Amino acid sequence: MDTRDKGFDSKLIHAGMFDDQFGSATVPIYQTSTFRFKNADHGAACFAGDSEGYIYTRLNNPTIDSLEKLIAELENGYRGIATSSGMGAVNTIYGAFLKQGDHMISTDAVYGPSRVVMEKHYSKFGVESTYLDTTKPDLVRKAIKPNTRMLYIETPANPTMSVTNLKEMVAIAREHNLITVADNTFCSPYLQKPLDFGVDVVFHSITKFLNGHADIVGGIIVSKNKELDSQLRPMMVNLGCNMDPHQAYMVIRGLKTLSLRMDRSQENAMTIARFLEEHPKVDWVKYPGLESHPQFDLAKKQMNGPGAMISFELRGGLPAGKTLMNEVKLCMLAVSLGGVESLIQHPASMTHSKMDKEAREKSGITDGLVRFSVGIENVEDIIDDLTQAFDKV
Ligand SMILES: *Cc1c(COP(=O)(O)O)cnc(C)c1O
Repeated sequence: MDTRDKGFDSKLIHAGMFDDQFGSATVPIYQTSTFRFKNADHGAACFAGDSEGYIYTRLNNPTIDSLEKLIAELENGYRGIATSSGMGAVNTIYGAFLKQGDHMISTDAVYGPSRVVMEKHYSKFGVESTYLDTTKPDLVRKAIKPNTRMLYIETPANPTMSVTNLKEMVAIAREHNLITVADNTFCSPYLQKPLDFGVDVVFHSITKFLNGHADIVGGIIVSKNKELDSQLRPMMVNLGCNMDPHQAYMVIRGLKTLSLRMDRSQENAMTIARFLEEHPKVDWVKYPGLESHPQFDLAKKQMNGPGAMISFELRGGLPAGKTLMNEVKLCMLAVSLGGVESLIQHPASMTHSKMDKEAREKSGITDGLVRFSVGIENVEDIIDDLTQAFDKV
């Protein structure tokens, strides 16, 4: 069925679906590494790209294909490329568009490994990078050099929850002929569609909101046109960071409730953000749905909702943070985000504990910073849990 003129929620249920031999109501899992050719001519046609036939699962597979079509429709893009993880998507993008001598500009508060892989590994191949606050367009303009090739944006970015103006970034990129890339993991296409603002390539850690159930790791890239897609796909295939058919099936299943999950978790997040803002043991709260957020107006225009990620600063620094982590019961003490379960994390004592304090604070990871991914539990239960844990701080 052609779902292109249907609403977002209908696409979640029906887009990418295909008719299999038995009229299956869900997308079947084609758990196979390879596909039989009908004869030598058919094999040749498949390799020449003249036939719709499948060849080998690292290249493509009907289950994975279905997911790629579905997410491309959700993002209003040309085509999806599923990857083994969000980092598989990051590496496919860097590898496809950057070569020796190129320079990339990125949001400074990006997902840690997206920066680590650039500064540790791509630098070995002569790729330069600059990390800066992309909420300030003048800083971006000043950082552009003759060899700048890519503008890489994460919005909202972690842990500051800063919101970058996508339209403004696209305008700057077009003046200088740069490829624009957006990490849309924190929003999912339900809340933000970067391609609609003119961004060239959008990607996700599927692990988070898109799958939504904390049970698989994966990624997806969607580009705005065929030309960009045809530069990306061979990179993914040759890096070997393809998705597995079973993994793709799990994501298709998880995606069906994306709107319902996002609505509930962001409704909970709004209530919790207000609760935190009024709590005497909390210094500040960063949430795009609060009037106190520095880009509150922009977030309202650019996003269809403020999302379910909250950062807040606990009074009492490192020991207070540790106590809170040790005392929560319903909220799970774990990294990752975007699942149906509430996850809480204290970067200074956990993910960033190996960094020295000065460098940590420079990148916005203060001693009392807590990152909270709000789930779909009863909001009273989440607040009760936080309240009893705060009482022990
Ligand atoms: C988790 C995450 C990634 C990396 O994804 P993996 O699936 O863990 O490889 C990239 N960007 C953001 C914003 C993330 O939260």
